Amino acid sequence: MRFKKHLTKNPAQTKKLGEALAKEILKSQPKNRAWVIGLEGDLGGGKTTFLQGLAKGLGIKEKILSPTFIIIRKSKIQNSKSKYENFIHIDCYRIEKPKEILDLDFKEIILNPQNIVTIEWAERIKKILPQNSLIIKFEFVNKNKRKITLSHAK
Ligand code: ADP
Ligand code: MG
Repeated sequence: MRFKKHLTKNPAQTKKLGEALAKEILKSQPKNRAWVIGLEGDLGGGKTTFLQGLAKGLGIKEKILSPTFIIIRKSKIQNSKSKYENFIHIDCYRIEKPKEILDLDFKEIILNPQNIVTIEWAERIKKILPQNSLIIKFEFVNKNKRKITLSHAK
């Protein structure tokens, strides 16, 4: 990944960063399992905003909402340039134990090479997050500034 630490000054900049990541993902070599992205940090940190940009960059037309009550949402990636078919959006805000996510066929989801899997509140399921997932941490600096740091798990 070319970028690591970023300071965004408004939601549009955070979306742009998500779009830039989509370009990187589309350019990257296919893997033999899903692309997994864990998003960490406080409520209002910009995780969902970032994913709206990522989804736009992947060519997803439907609106990305926070799946807080639903836990998992799946969207089709209809983009001839994409080797991935599904955009899976998971929100762990309401879960208490990683097992609750395992019970939703998580293993299958992360093994499928056609999936891009994004996980909000990934810190809650650290134990079951695949090694080498991309981790994006969102920190609240002030009302409109967010520090966004990309790294790899473990
Ligand atoms: P999360 O999913 O982490 O809870 P959201 O993306 O749902 O966060 O919400 C972020 C909130 O912060 C939105 O209301 C957005 O308008 C606001 N905001 C202000 N500045 C920024 C910024 N630089 N990046 C992202 N969101 C921002
Ligand atoms: Mg959110």
